[in-house]
Amino acid sequence: MYTNFKEFLSNELANIQEAGLYKRERVIVNPQQANIKISSGQEVLNFCANNYLGLSNNSNLIEAAKKALDTRGFGMSSVRFICGTQDLHLELEKKISDFFGTEDAILYAACFDANGGVFEPLLSEEDAIISDSLNHASIIDGVRLCKAQRYRYANANMEELENCLMVSQAQRFRLIVTDGVFSMDGNVAPLDKIYELAQKYNAMIMVDESHSAGVVGETGRGTTELYNLRGKVEIITGTLGKAFGGAIGGFTTGKKEVIDMLRQRSRPYLFSNSIPPMVAAAGIEMFNMMSKTNDLQDNLHSNTAYFLGKMKSAGFDIKPTRSAICAVMLYDAKLSQEFASKMLEEGIYVIGFYFPVVPKDQARIRVQISAGHEPEHIDRCVNAFIKVGKELGVIS
Ligand SMILES: *Cc1c(COP(=O)(O)O)cnc(C)c1O
Repeated sequence: MYTNFKEFLSNELANIQEAGLYKRERVIVNPQQANIKISSGQEVLNFCANNYLGLSNNSNLIEAAKKALDTRGFGMSSVRFICGTQDLHLELEKKISDFFGTEDAILYAACFDANGGVFEPLLSEEDAIISDSLNHASIIDGVRLCKAQRYRYANANMEELENCLMVSQAQRFRLIVTDGVFSMDGNVAPLDKIYELAQKYNAMIMVDESHSAGVVGETGRGTTELYNLRGKVEIITGTLGKAFGGAIGGFTTGKKEVIDMLRQRSRPYLFSNSIPPMVAAAGIEMFNMMSKTNDLQDNLHSNTAYFLGKMKSAGFDIKPTRSAICAVMLYDAKLSQEFASKMLEEGIYVIGFYFPVVPKDQARIRVQISAGHEPEHIDRCVNAFIKVGKELGVIS
């Protein structure tokens, strides 16, 4: 049996390679941070991590995790409702809902699981899910597991959203679902307008704050802070794997009854292991740090503004962004790959994205700014962009 299957897979893999879509992993041999060392021995500045607040290698979080290893052990060997709940898990859930100004929160092993387990327990055939076309893969998969009617609107297109809301009026409940920040462009969902439409057409809202939590809004509370809608959105999902320390873990937070129902019926919560105590402890420490100071957010925002200002005055074409994601537009797929590899030669690690990850002829280099970058890191990045940009005729 395997002989045929092996041949089938080998052919498919060869096709992936031929299409230039085969993913290779670069191996890092030191902690995740602004300067990383890769297995070739080269030291480079990292501009492609989701380490927005520079917390992946933060000493306070490491200390908190070590302490929890000593006092609460290594793993839970259980799901939450059998014997997988420690005081730390409950405390972290409380911190999450305080941070977002919501009523309750529930932890998952990852945001992929939070999104996978949020729709099916809450909605059924009589209901409608109205989803932005650029929503994350985990939202798409979560929606697939749910029997609700599906509607889709073009990215951030409020006319199309309104149309979906009109045609779904016969359904019992309507839930609009959007990413807070879209990962390829860095644009923020127009939550103010979504909220207005939700009010007008009697719909609920779910926002996935994975790329926006810790980043967007004066104090990093996400898109609900940016649009003055704290406490007004029914469901928020997010990750501990990006700005919030970058280890592992996801959550859903929002209305009390929603969270209660998820604890009863959400399959990735009921049938998958509890997060390790050290991860919960580091998460608690992270929220404590954020409640004491806004330095990380302030750094991130000024770093982003600094990068954008320099790049624009050098003549680069950057998508309008309100996050820490800056899409440097090159349009041509081959150019984006050549540009990224020349950047690596200059000691700057960035990734070029092209079709089908982004639309055809919309190839770009995605730069992700971090509070962990020093101004001189950003200078080196911009100087490399200018050098390579001139070499390849992108800027003059
Ligand atoms: C990264 C991401 C996820 C997945 O988060 P994990 O915790 O890594 O599973 C989900 N949704 C969005 C929008 C993301 O960007």
